[in-house]
Amino acid sequence: MLGFKTVKWIFIFVFLVLLAGVITGLISWYYLVIALVLYISFNFIQSFRIRANYYIKANCMAQHTLDKIALTFDDGPDTKTLEIMDMLDAYNAKACFFIIGKKVEQYPEIVKEIDKRGHIIGNHSYKHNNLCKSLSVRSIKNEIEYTNQLIKQIIHKEPAFFRPPYGVTNPLIAKAIKSFSMDVIGWSIRSFDTLNKKNMSLAKVKREISSGKIILLHDTSPDILWLLQNILEHLKENGYELCSVGELFALEPYKSGKQ
Ligand SMILES: [Zn+2]
Repeated sequence: MLGFKTVKWIFIFVFLVLLAGVITGLISWYYLVIALVLYISFNFIQSFRIRANYYIKANCMAQHTLDKIALTFDDGPDTKTLEIMDMLDAYNAKACFFIIGKKVEQYPEIVKEIDKRGHIIGNHSYKHNNLCKSLSVRSIKNEIEYTNQLIKQIIHKEPAFFRPPYGVTNPLIAKAIKSFSMDVIGWSIRSFDTLNKKNMSLAKVKREISSGKIILLHDTSPDILWLLQNILEHLKENGYELCSVGELFALEPYKSGKQ
C-alpha cells in the first residue's frame, strides 16, 4: 500500500501532465477536476483506515507470533473498568487501556489501579473528539501532551502508545504524533461492542481471531463483561495466549527509558 507522500507526488505529476494537456488544448479541463476529486476522495477514505498505514504507521497486527492475542480497551477509565480488571485477573490476563484525558481527571484512582494491576496505559486524546476537526498540529499536540502529563502525574510514567479517537488519521494528526516519537496502536479485530449487539460482536471476534491480532473493546460498552468473559473462554479453549500490545510488537509502552 502506498503512503500519503508517495500518492501526493504521483498526483502532482499527473496533475501537471493534465495541466499541460489543457494548456495545449489536447484535453478538456474536466480531467483536472476529475483528478482533483479522485485525489481528495481517496485521501478522505484513507483517514478512516488506520490499518492502511497511509498517513502514519499503525501497529495493528503482529507477524510471526505463536497463538498470541492482545486485548485493548478504549474510552475509559469508566465505571466498569474495575470489574473488567477483576475478570482479567480471574483469567490471569493483561490488557492495554487507551484512556481519555478528561476521564483521567474524573477517575484518577482507577488509573492508578490499572497500572497497579500490571496493565498498560495508552493515550487516547484528551477530549475524544474526532481529531480531523482540529485545524492545527498545535491543538492536536496539546491534547496528546496534556493527557500524557495527566497520566504521568498519577502513575509516574509517560505513555508511549497513542490510539487516535475513532482510529482517524490525517497529515496533521500524523505530524503531531511523530513529534512525540509515540507509537500508534491500531487494531485488527473491531468488535463493534458499542452497538449493543453482544451476540453479533462475539461471533465477529470468534470468526476473525488468529495469531498476532489486537481486539478492540470499550470500557463503556453495555455488555462488556459478558462479552469479555466469552472472549476469554474462547481464547482459552482454542489455546491462544494473551499478551500485552508491547510484547506483541516488541515496543516499550512508556517513555521512561527515553526521557
Ligand atoms: Zn475511542
